Amino acid sequence: MTAEFVELIADHRAHLELRLASVAAQLDAIRDARSGANDDDEHDPEGATLSTEWSRAEGQRTDAVRTLGELDAALSRLAAGTYGTCASCGDAIPLERLRLLPAATLCVPCASRV
Ligand SMILES: [Zn+2]
Repeated sequence: MTAEFVELIADHRAHLELRLASVAAQLDAIRDARSGANDDDEHDPEGATLSTEWSRAEGQRTDAVRTLGELDAALSRLAAGTYGTCASCGDAIPLERLRLLPAATLCVPCASRV
């Protein structure tokens, strides 16, 4: 089981790294566009759009960084032999769930209570 999930988590990580790189490029592009635009967001329609895009890209970046951290924590649990154990009730998390959500720390009943 460990080898399967090490590989799965590595796959997810690789995807996230790509997403982070593309979001970083978007943020750079927005920053460039902004520096050429009027800073007065409230009265400049283009500035307001750039602000919205910035927030969206920044949100995606935050999500990707957080998920990377969760995947790293999952790798630590794999190394420690505690991977796949529900952090709340201590039951085994079904493999099907882990295959979909390799960073999952809760079994389905516990996750649905949160
Ligand atoms: Zn549980």
